[in-house]
Amino acid sequence: MIVLLTEKADLKTVRGALTSLGLWTSLCEGQGQRALLVEPHSSAVSRLEVESIPGVAAVLAAPSPQPRIDAIAGSCVRVGPALIGAPGEPVLMAGPCSVESRAQLQEAAAMAAAAGAQVLRGGAFKPRTSPYSFSGHGREALRWLREAADEHELGLVTEAMSEDEVPAVAEVADLIQVGTRNMQNFSLLRRIGETGKPVLLKRGMAARIDEWLLAGEHLMKAGASFVIFCERGIVGFDPKARNLLDLAAVAHLKLVHRQLVLVDPSHATGRRDLIPALARASLAVGADGLLIEAHPDSACALSDGPQALDAEGLAEVGRLFTKNAERPLAVSGAQIPGIRP
Ligand code: PEP
Ligand code: MN
Repeated sequence: MIVLLTEKADLKTVRGALTSLGLWTSLCEGQGQRALLVEPHSSAVSRLEVESIPGVAAVLAAPSPQPRIDAIAGSCVRVGPALIGAPGEPVLMAGPCSVESRAQLQEAAAMAAAAGAQVLRGGAFKPRTSPYSFSGHGREALRWLREAADEHELGLVTEAMSEDEVPAVAEVADLIQVGTRNMQNFSLLRRIGETGKPVLLKRGMAARIDEWLLAGEHLMKAGASFVIFCERGIVGFDPKARNLLDLAAVAHLKLVHRQLVLVDPSHATGRRDLIPALARASLAVGADGLLIEAHPDSACALSDGPQALDAEGLAEVGRLFTKNAERPLAVSGAQIPGIRP
């Protein structure tokens, strides 16, 4: 990006305004024209925002590959009763991996509400590696989900795995989840976007950040009202962790692209004992919330039992979300004097 200055512009003031947006610049002068060249590792800021700075005559910039995602940068979104994206007020979403029965879900929803969660999670349609594993109770489970969420005044997030299921999921969910395996299932993204609902877009387990942003752009272009990104770990080389939690990607989306990002430490680690530590780390990096698996009787869980928290474990994570929890706000290094790209 090149920022052309007006003749009377005060260089220091314009530069200060750019730096506070996370844009680092070097000055080019010649033939009576002054311009600021924005360095490549600066934040992603829309041309319109820069054009509105007094003293800026014009902005020359290559078009962004994800204009619709850029347009929601820095915004908040409502999911049922929860407001996602308010600075310093992350949101807890919790519930079982799979909805196994009406009774199990009611217990899990009570656990989630007691821990301070504002949104209930749970899968009615489950992507499973083996075709012989439990794959969800489908539409019946959707009804149980809405019922349990309403009973506890929670919002609801649940996954749609195929285009056929999208209308039924959209009818009950406040937020439609796209699972890691479907991040680049473009016809599914289009169908989900067409519902006009906000979407929780999990990162593909081997997807680059630019591919993740473009998957979000697919949703927005099709009509989604909002996209919240969710980091759930990518494929690593060490089987000690189920996946590799990429907190750098969280910082990147939050601080460079100013997008809403949740972290799912449950699928990242695959082990319940590591979840509180990664939950803290995720919030420190600036995550807008956490998606956590919890089960009233994890020993009998039909999916992902080893990573499910019990009521006590979930309450421990929930304490990170209390109003006076010690939680420094993550800031972009671009706003710290002395840190340059
Ligand atoms: C889930 O959230 O239940 C799930 C299947 O997650 P992922 O798509 O991240 O594996
Ligand atoms: Mn799971």
